[in-house]
Amino acid sequence: MDLQMYFKGIDNYHSGAQQARVFTETWVARNLYCPRCGNENIVHFKNNRPVADFYCEKCKNEYELKSKSGGLGEKVNDGAYDTMIARITGNQNPDFLFMGYQKQSLTVKDLVIVPKHFFIPSMIEKRRPLSATARRAGWTGCNILINTIPKQGFIKIIEDGRIVEKEKVLLQMSRCSKLEILNVEARGWLLDVLECVNLIPMQEFSLDDVYRFEAVLAAKHPQNHNVKPKIRQQLQYLRDKGFLEFTQRGKYRKIY
Ligand SMILES: [Zn+2]
Repeated sequence: MDLQMYFKGIDNYHSGAQQARVFTETWVARNLYCPRCGNENIVHFKNNRPVADFYCEKCKNEYELKSKSGGLGEKVNDGAYDTMIARITGNQNPDFLFMGYQKQSLTVKDLVIVPKHFFIPSMIEKRRPLSATARRAGWTGCNILINTIPKQGFIKIIEDGRIVEKEKVLLQMSRCSKLEILNVEARGWLLDVLECVNLIPMQEFSLDDVYRFEAVLAAKHPQNHNVKPKIRQQLQYLRDKGFLEFTQRGKYRKIY
């Protein structure tokens, strides 16, 4: 994997955004293996498809690339808000690749993969509708709040200019695929409780440590009035999937 991107041959594209799209996509097609199955490369879709940018010829998985100059930060700009929500709730999202690149040196700084089953509607922030004078007046875009994605589904391929070993990426991908839930409501509970567990600094914790997040979880799921049983259910699920274990002292221990 060569972190250098190339600018040549793209002078025909006038806008900076178009140019960035070409050199980042060219880089992915030349350098990136399939994070799902390890196939040597992923292929760019011929035409500009609305849903995905790349696919793997071996496992058929699809990927969408979002890139920005500089660090990845807390959020990444995406297209229409309604479309994104419909894609998440309809399970039509591809896996997402988030790339941060250095504009001066034209090198890849960060590259992260987030599997499709790690997206829930609360991670999508509505932007202000375009003003009445804009060409597409009223159009509403969105931001993906990448800082709210639990780390188990925020898998680094390149971290601050350093390439993470492929084996490690594939292992993390295969591990997090155990948390794949199609129902968006159930997925929301799982990821929200997982994020609470991630926020507990200790490796070993009690049920009360998670109950401290009861108000936060209740606010995220206002239609549910049985938050505590819901928490216990998610912890059980995380244990069954090998992310937690019960210790002899009635506590939970993180396995990651
Ligand atoms: Zn593949």
